[in-house]
Amino acid sequence: MNHGEDAGKSAHDRRPPSVARRGSVQRVLEVLRLDGPSSQAALARRTGLSRATVNAIVKGLKDEGVAEVRPVNGRESLVALVSSNAAVVAVQVNVGSLRAAVFDFGRMTRLDTEIPYAEGSEDVGIALVSDTVMALAARAGLGPEELAGVAVAMQAPIARATGTIASWAQLQLPAWTDVPIADTLAERLGIPVIADNDANLAALAEWTWGAGRGAADFLYVMCAAGVGGGFVIDGKIYRGGDGLAGEIGHMVLESHGPVCFCGSRGCLTTFVSEKFLLLALEDSGSSRKSLKEIVAAARRGDPACRRVLYEAGRHLGRAFANTAKLMAPSVIAVGGALSEAGPLLFESIQSSVEVHSLRAVSPSIRFVPARLGDDTALLGGLAAVLADAGQGVSTLPEWVRQPVTVRDVNSQARNR
Ligand SMILES: [Zn+2]
Repeated sequence: MNHGEDAGKSAHDRRPPSVARRGSVQRVLEVLRLDGPSSQAALARRTGLSRATVNAIVKGLKDEGVAEVRPVNGRESLVALVSSNAAVVAVQVNVGSLRAAVFDFGRMTRLDTEIPYAEGSEDVGIALVSDTVMALAARAGLGPEELAGVAVAMQAPIARATGTIASWAQLQLPAWTDVPIADTLAERLGIPVIADNDANLAALAEWTWGAGRGAADFLYVMCAAGVGGGFVIDGKIYRGGDGLAGEIGHMVLESHGPVCFCGSRGCLTTFVSEKFLLLALEDSGSSRKSLKEIVAAARRGDPACRRVLYEAGRHLGRAFANTAKLMAPSVIAVGGALSEAGPLLFESIQSSVEVHSLRAVSPSIRFVPARLGDDTALLGGLAAVLADAGQGVSTLPEWVRQPVTVRDVNSQARNR
């Protein structure tokens, strides 16, 4: 998979030549990422290469520690991508917190840290991210030269032309105004950096290892404090002209609806995000303080909470029907706290989709819960860096899903 030259990527020149893959090898790697573990016969069929060529490529990938061949029965074996030596740091810059994780495939360990801060803080910019990356890597016993790359998932759309967060979303993350994220960070750290919208990276993770695996056209929608979305089409994040593609949260559903922070009215976000669901419950005398609490109460049978989740499903269904008529994804996965409502939400989505007569035009489209939990943006960063370095893992190892949390990682680094 080509993660996209325009994803705000930098420092290509520092990559070792062995990982700059082209041609046939690239095709084999793409199929292994797209299809997961595959037989050599299937690889030959899917790539159009001869069995002998596939055999030689697989042997080369095996020698490099990038792929392994697993026997599945007496006669057949499957080729799977493994990563035996890469170390990757993924960072998630949210409006009110910073999360980071280092994935060390050599030691098979993952260290995480989280730094909360005041929303709209001016101090939480590139310096904090670069300090956190270095401190977390040091805690994992890794020097910067051992990192294959860093991925930064921003809770904002990234303008393609400039690599900065889109101007209309800058008030949400003021410290990042006009900062070309990947270039600036790559210069500070001296390693390749990928910066992308968090929902785009989450979509990549769900496509690579989760609910979108095997889907050629995939839409991931994250519904929590905000609503974000990302397309993966033919194995690539689809960003569109200004990097805005997949911003389903700002699809207008009601032209006289509530005013949204983007400046429009009646965006999907204003009907299904946490704040608006809490607002909808206000007059019911509900004491719920978060979306998680609403979902938990609804699951216990609270009628008011069930009602707002049902309505959220109706709005999502309408947005999905509009999107599907334009882009025709084969799978739409819903992640974030809202998706934990389970059948209550998905049945409402289904019936809304029926009302908007999507079934007639797209009978095989599937709506599914996302599978990778609230970790998706970080895992997407991992997937993006591995793909960029010509590596990958066909199956997500257990340890990748089991973070060990480090507290005060920056102060520990300073005191050393
Ligand atoms: Zn909006």
